[in-house]
Amino acid sequence: MRKKLVAGNWKMNQNSAEISLFASDILSRLQDSTPNADILICPPFVYIEQLKSLFAHSNIQLGAQNVNNNKNGAFTGEISAAMLSDMEIKWCIVGHSERRKYNHESNTELTQKIEQLFSMQINPVFCCGEMLPERNAGNHFEVVKKQIEGVLWNLPEDVMNTITIAYEPVWAIGTGVTASNNQAQEMHAFIRMLVSGKFGDTLAQNIRILYGGSVTADNASELFLMPDIDGGLVGGASLKAESFFQIINSCK
Ligand code: PEP
Repeated sequence: MRKKLVAGNWKMNQNSAEISLFASDILSRLQDSTPNADILICPPFVYIEQLKSLFAHSNIQLGAQNVNNNKNGAFTGEISAAMLSDMEIKWCIVGHSERRKYNHESNTELTQKIEQLFSMQINPVFCCGEMLPERNAGNHFEVVKKQIEGVLWNLPEDVMNTITIAYEPVWAIGTGVTASNNQAQEMHAFIRMLVSGKFGDTLAQNIRILYGGSVTADNASELFLMPDIDGGLVGGASLKAESFFQIINSCK
């Protein structure tokens, strides 16, 4: 039985004062509830330290939004897996569509990032998902298959065991347009089938596949009821404690 995971991707949002308010709000809401999900927040790097102390006695885990694909060296402005590990980070988003778009991340780089993370016992949340013209042309399964094959098929099974996949149709990210429950479910089932074909059924049944793309407190319950949806990667709705808490509470 896969435990659900609700992960917040704060992107380049929040400041120190907002983070303090968010933390006290979410912690007081979580105090009286027993969430049926693992909880993860991926803030901008510079706020990891602040959140680490605010969440020290809670079950909220922290993740990074990115990592460099090299071990160390002359890469100005970059952050290594060893540095994340030094900050006790246990999760990291890899291949978010915004980074694929603005930073032109290649399959080779994404594979290297995952290898760097694995060397530091950090769990990658690997993002994939088609763009609107690709879906409209009926190519969405093919596109997602290529993204997965191009990166995850390079990995040995012990690395693959640490992966969480996030299916994030690009047309649903930050748009307020969510994939329907059935659209999301059929892609998640397809991804699980691909993983089963390559790594076997046990790994495929254990791997968590999150849905991301305009998840809100209103649509989370129904999405999370679908058999192959194991939680969500949440952008906008993770910025406010109230909506993030409701999404966490949608996990049955
Ligand atoms: C995301 O950033 O991964 C995301 C899914 O954003 P939003 O929930 O705002 O669509």
